[in-house]
Amino acid sequence: MRIDKALKSKLPNVDMENLSFGTVFSDHMFVCKYQNGSWLDPKIIPYQSISFDPSTSVFHYGQAVFEGMKAYKDVKNKIWLFRPNENFNRINKSSERLQIPKFPEEFFFNGLHELLKIDAEWIQPGVGNSLYIRPFVFASQAGVQASPSLEYTFFIICCPVKSYYGGEVNLLIEEDFSRAAEGGVGFAKTAGNYAAQFYPTALAQKKGYQQIIWTDAKSHNYLEESGTMNIFFKINDKLITAPTNDRILDGITRKSVIQIANDLGIDVEIRPVKVSEIIEAAENKSLKEVFGSGTAVVVSSIKSFGYRGKNYKLPKVDNPLAANLKEKITAIQYNLIDDPYGWRHAVV
Ligand SMILES: *Cc1c(COP(=O)(O)O)cnc(C)c1O
Repeated sequence: MRIDKALKSKLPNVDMENLSFGTVFSDHMFVCKYQNGSWLDPKIIPYQSISFDPSTSVFHYGQAVFEGMKAYKDVKNKIWLFRPNENFNRINKSSERLQIPKFPEEFFFNGLHELLKIDAEWIQPGVGNSLYIRPFVFASQAGVQASPSLEYTFFIICCPVKSYYGGEVNLLIEEDFSRAAEGGVGFAKTAGNYAAQFYPTALAQKKGYQQIIWTDAKSHNYLEESGTMNIFFKINDKLITAPTNDRILDGITRKSVIQIANDLGIDVEIRPVKVSEIIEAAENKSLKEVFGSGTAVVVSSIKSFGYRGKNYKLPKVDNPLAANLKEKITAIQYNLIDDPYGWRHAVV
């Protein structure tokens, strides 16, 4: 693989203490092109702007998918990834649904490893600090014919992030708009899924909510996801989350939460979650916790949620499960404890 090193690092000019998520990028990026039926010439080059013809397919038809993952440094400055095979498999699953050619595993891991090694200084040690990694692929052929592109470009870019406190999260259970339909692309990490969420989310924000809890598109009777996270409900001692399907994204954090909760001896039910049972549980005080799961924050506790004009506040609990799960997953990510699952992946 070709590696063109940046002449000068931008790192000394970056204020690592005041990073706004996703706005500062490391010195290098990985690029690979698909042409004439194959992925060719993977390379690492200095992070830079790219230029495309105005007719480029992705601008018109949105054939684009992405991933989100993180690299962590332990106390010995060793770099780790968390279940990266899952991200690799998922980007190809997302790609398949959008008729994008699969990306080769060797290119993905070589590219990722070399990129992290060359930009290693961008990963700050210390729990909470990490390098957010954004692999993405899009239709890069010029021309407005409404058919799958014959050319694609795969990138990996990285940005340093600090842990952040999400604040008091207040969510709205949405019944008018839908995120995903049966047979659709909800399970895939497509750019378009996010575009379609911005408008309903902006309306919810005007009403004082940070995010939406999406219900199923057909009946709006079941709770599916929260913004861009999977969602969990703790009723008394039971932890409940919806099963993944073609509307729900198969989150890696979700899987990890389920595994760890099971191993803590918690009763985890993976089944459709009715809006009515959650409202009832909130009213009779058996609803103890609600939290989202995703790579960016690991686990994010919800303080309250709105439904049909009424607001439901969650109780303050001692030793919340959300915090316990977050701590366990974080300890594995930062190589602070043994990893009985084989989730930690060394970057060498
Ligand atoms: C990325 C994403 C998640 C979380 O997945 P992780 O693998 O845990 O980061 C959940 N829901 C949606 C819609 C997502 O795009």
